[in-house]
Amino acid sequence: MPEVIRQLPENVANQIAAGEVIQRPASAVKELMENAVDAGASRIDVRLVDAGRTLIHVLDNGVGMVEADAKRCFDRHATSKINSAEDLFTIVSKGFRGEALASIASIAHVELKTRHESDECGVQLNMEGGTLAQETPVAMKVGTQIAVRHLFFNVPARRNFLKSDTVEMRHVIDDFQRVALAHEAIHFTLTHNDSELFDLRPATLRKRVIGVFGSKYDERLVPVEESTDVVGVIGFVGKPAFARRTRGEQFLFVNQRFVKHGLIHRTIMQAYEGLMVPGQYPLYVLFLTIDPARLDVNIHPTKTEIKFDEDQHIQSLLLPSIRRGLGKHAVAPSLDFDQESSLNIEPPPKDRVVAEPAVHINTEYNPFHSTGNSSGSAGVGLRPGRGQLDAWKSLYEKVWKPDGGPGQVQEERAMQSSATGEVGAQLEAGNEMVVQHRPLFQLQNKYIVTATKSGLLVIDQHRAHQRILYEELVRQLEPQGVAPATQQLLFPASIDLNAADQLFVLQSREWLAKFGLLIEKHDDGVEVQGMPLEADTTPESLIQAILEERASEVAGVSREERVAAQLASSMAVRVGKALKPEEMVDLVDRLFGCSTPALDPFGRAVIVNIESNELDQRFR
Ligand code: ADP
Ligand code: MG
Repeated sequence: MPEVIRQLPENVANQIAAGEVIQRPASAVKELMENAVDAGASRIDVRLVDAGRTLIHVLDNGVGMVEADAKRCFDRHATSKINSAEDLFTIVSKGFRGEALASIASIAHVELKTRHESDECGVQLNMEGGTLAQETPVAMKVGTQIAVRHLFFNVPARRNFLKSDTVEMRHVIDDFQRVALAHEAIHFTLTHNDSELFDLRPATLRKRVIGVFGSKYDERLVPVEESTDVVGVIGFVGKPAFARRTRGEQFLFVNQRFVKHGLIHRTIMQAYEGLMVPGQYPLYVLFLTIDPARLDVNIHPTKTEIKFDEDQHIQSLLLPSIRRGLGKHAVAPSLDFDQESSLNIEPPPKDRVVAEPAVHINTEYNPFHSTGNSSGSAGVGLRPGRGQLDAWKSLYEKVWKPDGGPGQVQEERAMQSSATGEVGAQLEAGNEMVVQHRPLFQLQNKYIVTATKSGLLVIDQHRAHQRILYEELVRQLEPQGVAPATQQLLFPASIDLNAADQLFVLQSREWLAKFGLLIEKHDDGVEVQGMPLEADTTPESLIQAILEERASEVAGVSREERVAAQLASSMAVRVGKALKPEEMVDLVDRLFGCSTPALDPFGRAVIVNIESNELDQRFR
């Protein structure tokens, strides 16, 4: 039997490691930014071309490297950050595995320019496929500049796996924001294809948070600060009224490293109990400081998972401190008042009307619906099974189909005469046509009630309209889709957005136009020039609805479809709106023209059917 075991060549080993460390351009951006932070830089510039596919360029003014170090930094397990195994327990730097540069160099063309403060002149190294191709002296300021070109050039599987520039940029921005939030004293910039997305000057933590998220966040933040001998917490939590139905604004840092920690997340959520509708996520940007000896950061290569020795201790510090914070800022005068009033506590911002989120949240509340988690539950309603649907349709067709045969008309007449006096009176007052065709009336400006052969149908007007609009919007997306019905706004609405939100909206502009939503770029945000014809809402809340969907990812449902669902929800006729009889007829007809009339786009019931035997039971 011949021998079969061989040592992997260094470069292959590095490529394998790269698979773990560098998944996409954002991972390289994060590693390079963290190296610059570790190098003590006070200014870090990140420049990307094509979402990092073509170029990732990170420039810093940190300590730089002497020539020998510059050559060594691409070796696997080459690091200046730990000397012995004991050091693992006192880590304060971002990196320590010495894997990032080796990994990056094995899957891209890397040009490193660096000058250490003790040197007159810098050195430039060009790495190709992990080996040094060229070395030249170079005149430069103290610091390091790394250009990563053609990421994954030799790993086509990875390259093909990359998503659109929009998606990749979103990941980059996420990572950029995490590093920038954790280091408010450092000046960071982020540029993509020559447009500057962020310019974050050294600032207080509050100013940094606002710089990252946008100026409208100023009024949303509640400061939190607390410490014991073992652990300290500082940062901000969001006022409950601004909580979103999607995740994406939750930032936890431990010793200035962004981490994910289920238990701490749940503890924070617990602090909001009773203040917020379940299924929503409050913003938080919290920094825990813990003796490094008490945590184990070494459990995952990308190191966002973390383990503490002191879970309990941290919980018992966090919970009361957040509650106190919320209480102090009059967000939570008492913790047991109902959601109704908690949603009204926020004074409206001075500059514009943003009543939508609160109203929206309240009427939409459904404990079984949650958007934003990646488990996929959110999207189920978008594509429900068809069994139930067929049952509804046949019910409708049997009873109400407008062009039914003569037998059907007779059935209708019979039913009308059996309608209660109340219903009859309602109908009398209404439009002739309605009386002729069907008994319909509105209950509490919320439900449309109609009789069927076998009982009563109660239709939620808001959800019904959502379903109708959703299917219409989705049809407009199809290549030969119907032309969108747009109303040009006489006075285009300009909406301020932070750079990341602006980028996201602008990159979605083309397909948003298919919805009849016409958007142009504007200095500090976007300008809405046209809205879908049937929108019973403001341009602001439509943009908000689009951004809601930014962070969520649901298998099998496209972003366009999810945005369509949000738009439909924001455009649909509100609960509380009195409907004219002909409006009710129109709504019901269109609802039953839908492919899935029984469920709204989020999978919630649109129609409740009360069978006559159920009624009989109750009269027994
Ligand atoms: P790690 O950060 O885990 O040590 P890396 O592969 O990211 O591993 O970097 C290897 C080494 O290269 C670092 O330990 C550091 O000494 C050096 N280095 C990397 N980037 C920079 C930089 N921007 N400025 C100065 N030194 C750097
Ligand atoms: Mg590193």
